[in-house]
Amino acid sequence: MKLAPVAQRLGGNRFILDEEEPHIVVNQELAKSTGTAERIIAACPAQVYSLGADGNVAVEYAACLECGTCFELADPGALSWHYPRGGFGVQFREG
Ligand code: SF4
Repeated sequence: MKLAPVAQRLGGNRFILDEEEPHIVVNQELAKSTGTAERIIAACPAQVYSLGADGNVAVEYAACLECGTCFELADPGALSWHYPRGGFGVQFREG
């Protein structure tokens, strides 16, 4: 069985954005000084994180797949991550 490209498969997901309470907040100073920034930018499968022009970590939390990888890779205090509130976040679709 041949699978469609990852971007195409992820494109079928639906994201319900919680604009009042982001579920990801980066402590910019700690993220940069501990190496957390490089790790989460490299590891996130949804490319939620990127390095902004100002040198800070930009976060597009609306595309988060809620896999928890960044939470596992972050040094203590560098990243606040929790599941979105009920009714928000990713809804996976097949096909
Ligand atoms: S939980 Fe997964 S998809 Fe979401 S930001 Fe972290 S690494 Fe990316």
